[in-house]
Amino acid sequence: MTKNEYIESLIKADKIKHTVDKSINFQFQIGSKTLGEEKVLIAGPCSVESKDMIIDVSLKLKEIGVDALRGGAYKPCTYPVRKSVNGWKEGLQKEGLEYLLNAKDKSGLPIVTEVMDASKINLVSEYADIFQVGTRNFQNYTLLDELGKQDKPILLKRGTWGTLDEILGACERIIEGGNTKIAICLRGVVGMPSYRHIFPSTRWAPDLMMIPALKEFTNIPIIYDPSHATGYRNFVLPISKAAMALNVDGLIVECHPKPEKSISDPDQAITFNNLKKIKELFKN
Ligand code: PEP
Ligand code: MN
Repeated sequence: MTKNEYIESLIKADKIKHTVDKSINFQFQIGSKTLGEEKVLIAGPCSVESKDMIIDVSLKLKEIGVDALRGGAYKPCTYPVRKSVNGWKEGLQKEGLEYLLNAKDKSGLPIVTEVMDASKINLVSEYADIFQVGTRNFQNYTLLDELGKQDKPILLKRGTWGTLDEILGACERIIEGGNTKIAICLRGVVGMPSYRHIFPSTRWAPDLMMIPALKEFTNIPIIYDPSHATGYRNFVLPISKAAMALNVDGLIVECHPKPEKSISDPDQAITFNNLKKIKELFKN
């Protein structure tokens, strides 16, 4: 069996169809850029923490030349903390969405933010320019089907377990509804047991080989997330370089005015100065 005979068999069975259709244009606009034609840099904090914080970040990012602002208002975590613990409410939610809009008004940057379930699509749609589907919802078919009926673009994050055919299959669910504005976001996968990994604290392993694997079959743009893929700020620049060398269509990077103080994902956030170094990779 050749390596791609399995995928070919799914194509023959019509299970994989639209994603491999080279006549479909999956490109969409992010700010002034066309994703798929020009490389795009998305950046921002893991979570929206306050109004002032997200506005300040957005202005800084605009100055650096970032194309879109990311920030979680609905913030699922890997560990399912009970709501009663530490008052954790998984993000500022609607308030966070309002602050993102304030930041967009000030900076002009389009907003990328997560929608966690189908019942929130209408609400999030009032604020987001691009819907982010988080890794935990990669196979939430109700959500994918509903997003397929939207006309805003989708940034679909790979489930940490997702195989090549499952990535294409998840995109098929969205496209089936009529929405062809999709970007696949690779964000690291389950790796070795933590005691055999780089550090015991390393959660995910970078999934760089999936970039050329996907490009063999589909024209859907690919955005790499070096922040979640590494979980460690010192690795974000080198893995960004690797992803750019593999010809990704864009990067999504977590940054913070005081990285170690980030309310979520503090180990992987980078400073604005380091973000500037990543921006340098886009000048060729
Ligand atoms: C995020 O982008 O902050 C996030 C929660 O990512 P993921 O869904 O990939 O864990
Ligand atoms: Mn995060």
